[in-house]
Amino acid sequence: MLKTFQYRLYPTKHQETILNSQLEECRWLYNHFLEERKTTYEKTKKSPGLFDQCLTLPKLKSQWGSLKTVHSQVLQNVAMRIDLAFQAFFRRCKNGEKPGYPRFKGLDRYDSMTFTQIPVGCEIRDEILKISKVGNIKIILHRPLEGKPKICTIKRSSTGKWYAYFSCEIPTLNILPNNKRKIGIDVGLTTFATLSNEESIPNPRFFRKDEKELVKAQRKLSKEEKGTPERIKRRKPISRIHERIGFRRKNFAHQESRKIVNRFSFIAIEDLEINRMIHNRCLAKSISDAAWSLFFTLLFVKAVEAGRTIVKVNPSYTSQTCYACGHRQKMPLSKRTFLCPCCKFETDRDHNAACNILRLGLQSVGPIPKSPQSSDWGSSHMNPTLIQTPISQPNMPERYQTFPCTSPCPENIRAQDQHGQRYHLASTTQW
Ligand SMILES: [Zn+2]
Repeated sequence: MLKTFQYRLYPTKHQETILNSQLEECRWLYNHFLEERKTTYEKTKKSPGLFDQCLTLPKLKSQWGSLKTVHSQVLQNVAMRIDLAFQAFFRRCKNGEKPGYPRFKGLDRYDSMTFTQIPVGCEIRDEILKISKVGNIKIILHRPLEGKPKICTIKRSSTGKWYAYFSCEIPTLNILPNNKRKIGIDVGLTTFATLSNEESIPNPRFFRKDEKELVKAQRKLSKEEKGTPERIKRRKPISRIHERIGFRRKNFAHQESRKIVNRFSFIAIEDLEINRMIHNRCLAKSISDAAWSLFFTLLFVKAVEAGRTIVKVNPSYTSQTCYACGHRQKMPLSKRTFLCPCCKFETDRDHNAACNILRLGLQSVGPIPKSPQSSDWGSSHMNPTLIQTPISQPNMPERYQTFPCTSPCPENIRAQDQHGQRYHLASTTQW
């Protein structure tokens, strides 16, 4: 498994100048390779590949002496980046997506360089990162580097901070013991996420505060004329606010995903890619959207590393389907409580969706134990075993039975048999 570690770099003023000029050389080379591919294709209907372009590097170096100030592997990586950009372009064409031809990089648009074979050209020793043709840069190792570093990327942020990213090969995973607890997670607008055990993660309020500040700064920027020094000056605070929002969001996502991975062995989440296709993407939603993607990505990475099972499910109908009996009804966003007309099951809208997500997740990994007594359903009080047909098939008449409940649930949805076993009230008739 490859894991990337990020560290802050503190180059001296002189080193910073060298790094900036190296990035500028890389940018020139990137644009040169891109132009080469474009013009050769127009002339011969054939474009040079990665290997052809790497072969031209020695000639380019003798022609343009300044390229010699950059390490050869970094230059080869530039050719690799162009190749990847074209691969992605052809893939998008093939899939019928918006193609997006690779673009020339403008000033300040090229902000990272990669050493692909550590320790060649880039070596880490104690609190020092030794970079070829730059020197020894101070690095803050705020956490130990795990495994064997393979690739190192040096990056300049939009606010002028420098970072080093090490991709390390990790031989052993930190597997957590299986506690058989299962959870479904529904992300929403009123709360950040709702869990199937009725807990919820509130929406962090600092997003809203930062958003206001961002709008203010952007308004100031838009008042300045394009190309004026005032406009450049106004751009700085905006980058800083974006950076701060990013830091806070990342920290929040790291902490919340860690809590969930530590507590639950089975995690079901909704597939945001499918969710995007269902819902219209409006601007107001995009900020929380980004926060969810990051949260899910980190949740996924942490779950894999801890040996947890994590499944993505199709979120269609999860908020419209009654999880106690499977009846489907229209649920406009304004309706915050789910009240089932068939079985009178009543719960919070997001909680119902989270339970459905958990059920779909469990169904997707099947086989599910037949007897509820044979398994520990953990904190969730739903048992998916007796649902006969998958909920995701629309308009299908479905037959449901009562099913035992292993944990306390609202008064109106449970019944008790002569053995004291509690049941959800569910309809056995077909509709
Ligand atoms: Zn129902």
